Amino acid sequence: MTTRIGHRLSGSPGLEQAIAWASAEMRAEGLEGVRLQPAKVPRWMRGRESLRLVAPVERELPMLGLGMSVGTPAGGLTAPLVVVRDEKELQALGREKVQGKIVVYAADWEGYNRTVRFRSSGASEAAKLGAVAALVRSATERSIASPHTGSLTYAEGVAKIPAAAITVEDAMWLRRMASAGETLTATLAMEARLEGEADSANVIAELRGSEKPDEVVVVSGHFDSWDVGEGAHDDACSCMAAWQSLVLLKDMGLRPRRTLRLVLFTNEENGIAGGKAYHSALAGDFKSHAAAIEMDGGCERPAGFGITVRKPASRDRRGESRRRPRRPTHAARARSRRSARSRSTRSSRPTCSGRPSCWP
Ligand SMILES: [Zn+2]
Repeated sequence: MTTRIGHRLSGSPGLEQAIAWASAEMRAEGLEGVRLQPAKVPRWMRGRESLRLVAPVERELPMLGLGMSVGTPAGGLTAPLVVVRDEKELQALGREKVQGKIVVYAADWEGYNRTVRFRSSGASEAAKLGAVAALVRSATERSIASPHTGSLTYAEGVAKIPAAAITVEDAMWLRRMASAGETLTATLAMEARLEGEADSANVIAELRGSEKPDEVVVVSGHFDSWDVGEGAHDDACSCMAAWQSLVLLKDMGLRPRRTLRLVLFTNEENGIAGGKAYHSALAGDFKSHAAAIEMDGGCERPAGFGITVRKPASRDRRGESRRRPRRPTHAARARSRRSARSRSTRSSRPTCSGRPSCWP
């Protein structure tokens, strides 16, 4: 799929080809309840894009426009750069020093969940002070001059300005240049645009439960990807892992007690329309779901689960339902890693007998 079809950005022919291919394979494999669950997805187009530092030295900077960003005027926009580490530094500069500039977020790495905020909301925060564009450090710790795309969200009622990711190296270089007193100017050109919506779908297949067929355990990944790779790690491999869990059970003649439902969600990257479509199709019947498992962390040998449990409303006088889920202790995590390692040396990896859906 990743080789022949390639990327699966929402609204692209690749995503729809992949959906058609996957559902046909699932039917051929004899999975039950194979169906498409429709969802309208945004059709965001990247177009051509570039970033060039024009002063004090001329240099082409590797960049990737952020998903859902607007484009620049034709021919690009040229403006001075103002470099900040975080929102505090941005606010301290104020409108006077930000108006008409391109804000560069050259943030320190604080882990993905924190550092990614500049990508998500940096453009609108800069626009509130009159910036004309935003550049953000890629949301990654390590880099070999590789910018990472990802989605942004524009705040309501704030001017939409174009935004792009730059490499970690360039973010730090611009930061050093700015703190050395250099006046930096760059030209950003982006053809990015939103071209309405497209029809898409979640792909669903099941192994019906033997004892409690009306109770569901979802196993899932997201089937769409960004357009600048083949989306193998993010998130085709997880989709295949979830898919194969049904196929392997079926091949071994095992039937789960509850219905095991595979969902390959569409449009996770820029909109979550697939997740919302699944949610609204349930029409409030969440009790039918015993668990929902999603994999979106890239594909290594699985070593554990992260679990989110919403704190339940008090329903038990003894307070049992109030108990917070306990995080595994350090010792428990180490035990789990050790046992995963020893398992991997004891047994060979499961094979998939050449089934196309198993191809890496
Ligand atoms: Zn993902």
